[in-house]
Amino acid sequence: MILYLDLDGVCVGFVEAACRVHGRDFDEGSWPAGEYDITKVLGIGDEEFWEVIHRQGVEFWRGLEAYPWFERLYTELQRLGRVYFVTSPTDSSHSAAGKMLWLKDRFGKGFRDFTITRCKYLMSASRCILIDDSDHNIEAFERHGQGKGILFPQRWNSAYEHINGDRVDWVMDRIQRLK
Ligand SMILES: [Mg+2]
Repeated sequence: MILYLDLDGVCVGFVEAACRVHGRDFDEGSWPAGEYDITKVLGIGDEEFWEVIHRQGVEFWRGLEAYPWFERLYTELQRLGRVYFVTSPTDSSHSAAGKMLWLKDRFGKGFRDFTITRCKYLMSASRCILIDDSDHNIEAFERHGQGKGILFPQRWNSAYEHINGDRVDWVMDRIQRLK
């Protein structure tokens, strides 16, 4: 089995860091449930939102904090098959570079088990599972090929009712049920 693991919103706190650089605190409780569009929540335009982030350079992405469940999630997934990180770049090259550095900082200079693409659906094939926090990515992945998707529970997606339980257990349970 091949497992594709999204970075932002699954392994690292992009939304939390993005709120911080915009001078706001991420408050899970007051975030509108199921609202994926962070610019809507912050009440700013798309251009301004990215401008502020891109100004931080590579370090914004390289410095993203791993969620407390990251290590366990990665370890448990590795028991089931080969795990590849699959992450979307923004329109800035800082994003692609910073994401690559984040992975190499953790797993070593020679680490290559990742793909940086906006077209995750192109990798949809049988015995492949995408774990992602975007409803849209999951839907596209299942629509374009034989792959299965598991929506990682976050306040900003349609699996938000599962954020209070153990998210790793929830994901592992969903994978078992796919078999
Ligand atoms: Mg994501």
